[in-house]
Amino acid sequence: MISDTTKEDLLSKIAALEPISRVLEPEESQRNEWIHHISQNTNSFIDSLKEGKAFHMFQSMNGLLNINPDQNDGQALELILEELGRDMLNKGLNPASGGHLGYIPGGGIYAGVLGDYLAALYNQYAGIYYGGPGAVKIENELLRWLCRIIGFPNGSLGNLTSGGSMANLIAIVTARESRQIRPEEIPSLCIYLTEQVHHCVHKAIRISGLGFAHVRTIPVNHEFKMKTNDLRQQITSDQNKGLIPFMVVGTAGTTDTGAIDPLEELAEICEENKIWFHIDAAYGGFFILSKLKNPDGKALKSAFNGMERADSLAIDPHKGLFLSYGLGAVLIKDMTSLYKAHYYKAAYMQDTLTSQDELSPADLSPELTKHFRGLRLWLPLRLYGLNPFIACLDEKVLLCRYFYAEIAKLGFQTGPYPETSVCIYRFLPENEDANLYNQKILDYVVNDGRVFISSTTIQGVFWLRLAVLSFRTHLSTIEKCLEVLKLALISLK
Ligand SMILES: *Cc1c(COP(=O)(O)O)cnc(C)c1O
Repeated sequence: MISDTTKEDLLSKIAALEPISRVLEPEESQRNEWIHHISQNTNSFIDSLKEGKAFHMFQSMNGLLNINPDQNDGQALELILEELGRDMLNKGLNPASGGHLGYIPGGGIYAGVLGDYLAALYNQYAGIYYGGPGAVKIENELLRWLCRIIGFPNGSLGNLTSGGSMANLIAIVTARESRQIRPEEIPSLCIYLTEQVHHCVHKAIRISGLGFAHVRTIPVNHEFKMKTNDLRQQITSDQNKGLIPFMVVGTAGTTDTGAIDPLEELAEICEENKIWFHIDAAYGGFFILSKLKNPDGKALKSAFNGMERADSLAIDPHKGLFLSYGLGAVLIKDMTSLYKAHYYKAAYMQDTLTSQDELSPADLSPELTKHFRGLRLWLPLRLYGLNPFIACLDEKVLLCRYFYAEIAKLGFQTGPYPETSVCIYRFLPENEDANLYNQKILDYVVNDGRVFISSTTIQGVFWLRLAVLSFRTHLSTIEKCLEVLKLALISLK
């Protein structure tokens, strides 16, 4: 029992705190005012992208953007936005710029941003079906749609992740689970990949406890694709040694060159040898939607044949569907293994797997409470349908092909013909070290900042890269990039 004085005391303390804590629920007029500022600010940000830089050189972030919330009674939103514009947006890479032609560009389409806004505001619980049936349905619908695009059969599902790295990790953990591997077996396992695999696959192998397995780096051909004969030989040789061929990782759109491994043959080999076939399609997967033809007359998308035969696949809507950072997906056929690797309730739930209306994301990933990240994809798909996305993807491929042709005319050596929207190129100077020379070209372009490109080193050779995937990259951007590269050559003469 609470004594009266204690009760009074308690009530007066509560009464004192309530008006302060209620600040966290602003009045409608305040909300409208903030939205107005945010809307003005973001409109001028979007406007600035047309002429603004894709990269800003910076010295240091010391003393900037500090918070000190304990010594701060609150500031006006305008001032805070001003500070963000000055100290955050004007430093380093501007990934929202169409001039971002390095690494793998991200997106940030407005409709997706609104999806995020709604997701955060409604704050639906997208982890568990019981609590958030609508949110979970939306995420699972998206996953089923992705499975249909790839050609995975009904009953396949997966998880919407924060990105490709998490998607690859979940796939590899599921592969491990499917074999119910005991620790002492790990040193007998063999994993096959190429030097072109994304580094997050190596990271995932380590995190998933498979670091002591044999990781076989299979040679690549002149197009930087896995040589399937070498893969066959390596598998046979491993089998002869009593080792266990466990997983092949193919890439559908490598980060370096956009190459697609020979998926059909890899699928064949995996089926023959009962090997888990994982495809990392984080960057390239959505080009399966392409309506383009290659110069040889074959459909671009035919390079993805065999993708439907994979056991698991990673694909990034925050790359190929132009959404803001923070949305990847892993697709899995063997849902029992995915579930067994990640469920957290009692084991008896396993049998009810198929009788449930919808599986819960929390049972299919390491996350429990999570951002309702599906809405940022669901909303744009409902607003637009798929057509503008396909057009945007095809435009990027054609821009890359255009660049590839034009850069050769400027005297650059080009790498393989771009299979998707990435290509590599380098200048061969007469009396200078080519690697150093191309580093200087890169420095010039980054320093200029109007466009941003990046580089890579493949088998000791330094290459410049062009990666076209920002929805804001159009022909004028590519012309600008060619112009800056021309100026770089002139400056180095
Ligand atoms: C980007 C990328 C990844 C990593 O995905 P994140 O979303 O950055 O975590 C993995 N594989 C490939 C081929 C990629 O292009």
